[in-house]
Amino acid sequence: MKNFLVVGMGKTGESTARFLLDRGEKVLGYDDHKKQSDLPPHILNHPAFSPLRSIDLYKLNWSKIQECIVSPGVPSVHPILAKCEQERIPIVSEVELACRMLNFPLIGITGSNGKSTTVALIGHILNQAGLSTFIGGNFGTPLIDSISFRSTFQWGVVELSSFQLERVVKARFQIAGILNLALNHLDRHNSFRDYFLQKRNIFINQKKDDLAVVNFSHPSWHTQLCSMIRGSIIPVTYFGQLQEGFYWENLKIVERFEGKKRIIHCHHWQLPGEHNRENLLFATAVCRAVGVRVDQIEESLSSFQGLHHRIQKIAEINGILFYDDSKSTTPASTCAAVNSLNGPIILLLGGRSKIKDFSELNRNLSSDKIKAVILFGEDRELIYNFIPKSIPTYLFPTLDEAFEKVRSLSVSGDSVLLSPACTSWDQYSNYHERGEHFIRLVYGNS
Ligand code: ADP
Repeated sequence: MKNFLVVGMGKTGESTARFLLDRGEKVLGYDDHKKQSDLPPHILNHPAFSPLRSIDLYKLNWSKIQECIVSPGVPSVHPILAKCEQERIPIVSEVELACRMLNFPLIGITGSNGKSTTVALIGHILNQAGLSTFIGGNFGTPLIDSISFRSTFQWGVVELSSFQLERVVKARFQIAGILNLALNHLDRHNSFRDYFLQKRNIFINQKKDDLAVVNFSHPSWHTQLCSMIRGSIIPVTYFGQLQEGFYWENLKIVERFEGKKRIIHCHHWQLPGEHNRENLLFATAVCRAVGVRVDQIEESLSSFQGLHHRIQKIAEINGILFYDDSKSTTPASTCAAVNSLNGPIILLLGGRSKIKDFSELNRNLSSDKIKAVILFGEDRELIYNFIPKSIPTYLFPTLDEAFEKVRSLSVSGDSVLLSPACTSWDQYSNYHERGEHFIRLVYGNS
């Protein structure tokens, strides 16, 4: 019986603890915020589980702990991790732990925006093509849960955040890709370069026969990536053509290798916006690498509806369209949402920012398309400085008050878009709660 320290007892930490306890290991569970009473009884009451409080840290016999499993939400500078390092206790992520025991190949996807959508799409296409596929990671079900499931999988497709990649030691992704990189999470990374280096870890354990999907639309970093990749590179680009690889041409995807061209028709594709087409391009390259036929990909597109809270059309009331994009926590994703819709748009944004620089909004929002910006939440005044002065802009502490303004401003033909460019943590537990609040306001139930 080994002793594990699980740091962060959210969804991933709970799954990790349950997995270890089921295998007869001893678990110490630590969380800064979660109360002991919030833990599920099957963990809390398990004889091999002990909850660890900050106060107990001083009394702990560190020499008894063999390994620390850290959840993605825990900052790498957390004192408990510093203590583990000082005591020479190996620290790994839950993905690393899971990878030791997996018996199916993995597709790993990372990037700044669009990971969940792309992972869900890849999983959908593979399952529709008859390949039993586990879908999860940072999005949905933690990878460690796939080991406890009875069903056997032919493939797994996992979303990986930079925080999960931070603690990769041996985890190998037979197919891996970085979708895009935008200024993101600079609250937890020292610099953009640091962020890039962590994302790059997705390729670090690849072997010669593995495949790396590289987005050539981002010249500033793709050359650096290509130089360190051991496997075969599959180039994709949304802009322009490629001699070898996947690209867009007149609403179709072109696959071109060794002088041969294949066309993937995308008229069944339903998600709005160029950014979603880029996600589709990326997913197509991955699924072709797995060996899915072109006709199978084409057929599966009509049944993919996208995920909740990502530019989701929720209602049309008196000619006014309402869209929920609560998952947007970066200026890049808010700009992508604005570019996907027709004007006039009333844009609701704000919350707790992950960055201090919103100049991307300044460059991309224009009064031609945006009828008004309504700011709410903790960082509304910071963001206000970046909204072009030609756009009427209003500030309110809460979404409730902001929505009152929506009621007075909106007329038939307008689109009302919640796309916050910020996290929800100033007023909600997560983006889902914020999105559901917006939906209730739209239907007049709040
Ligand atoms: P992630 O898992 O990386 O957060 P999601 O698929 O959950 O990505 O989407 C998060 C937000 O980013 C949503 O607002 C969505 O509309 C937007 N988005 C999705 N794909 C892209 C992309 N390729 N570029 C920019 N924004 C995107």
